[in-house]
Amino acid sequence: MTIILDGKALREKILAGLKLKIDNYTKKPTLVVILIGKNPASQIYVNNKKKTAEKIGINSIVINYPENVSEQEIILKIHELNKDDNVDAILVQLPLPKHISKENIIKMIDPKKDVDGFSPYNFGQLFSGGTPFVYPCTPKGILLLLDEYNIELEGKHAVIIGRSNIVGKPLAQMFLDRNATVTICHSRTKNLADITKTADILVSAVGENIIEEKMLKSGCVVVDVGIFKDASGRTRGDVDFENVSKIASYISPVPGGVGPMTITSLMLNTVELFEKHLS
Ligand code: NAP
Repeated sequence: MTIILDGKALREKILAGLKLKIDNYTKKPTLVVILIGKNPASQIYVNNKKKTAEKIGINSIVINYPENVSEQEIILKIHELNKDDNVDAILVQLPLPKHISKENIIKMIDPKKDVDGFSPYNFGQLFSGGTPFVYPCTPKGILLLLDEYNIELEGKHAVIIGRSNIVGKPLAQMFLDRNATVTICHSRTKNLADITKTADILVSAVGENIIEEKMLKSGCVVVDVGIFKDASGRTRGDVDFENVSKIASYISPVPGGVGPMTITSLMLNTVELFEKHLS
């Protein structure tokens, strides 16, 4: 029988624990989100983050900028937030307008406040065997979900489709740290199905419905990170859930799998940075 990796249930459990923890602090953690422009998806993500943070007692401040704001103005704001002792965590919502360099912005965030774990220091720590202040939210959420269902990584072949800095690359490193054997695939990978068929654990982070039942071996664990709207406006993942769930041992749904875990990790990271800041 296929088991659903229920991100919503795990989110509720973790957030309840976090709320109790935060209730016991006299000072509350503060998360600042910088949102540039009016990208509808970004606005929804930022609203969800704010609502979730407030529900568990995190102060959440959203700073909105118009689409045409200059890179320099954002950098000045980040400097100000870095110095502000009342701010524990800073997040710049991606994607950014084309005239602003993501790299220039992210590297300005104090690594001790870099709640996404994307700054060069935190990334460097992750990839050099050190300890970042926090781990990137989506990979961290995937590991929390696998751990909740006692899915062992050691010695397993994990195939990750997608090599972005926010999902594929950090996840590959985090899987390696758990002694998995890792293969990363991407748009130039040849004979993708030959590789995915050897996966004990398959993670797809593409944003297109590309994973079919015939590409997988029976009993594999399937984690679907992709999320997009199809032509009819329905929210979809990368995986043909209906058919793949007939052969997978575990599968994460979209919505309700990795998405809730990403936001949960953001809350966990905010509290971790707050506690490090306190001490
Ligand atoms: P991205 O930066 O666009 O990366 C997509 C990756 O997929 C790239 O590495 C690309 O290869 C690869 N790819 C594209 N078409 C492919 C194909 N036909 N076969 C194999 N690989 C292919 O995207 P991202 O930011 O990592 O996000 C990926 C998806 O996950 C999106 O749907 C996004 O919305 C979703 N996401 C969800 C969450 C969540 O919390 N649920 C969090 C983050 C992202 P190249 O590198 O060669 O271009």
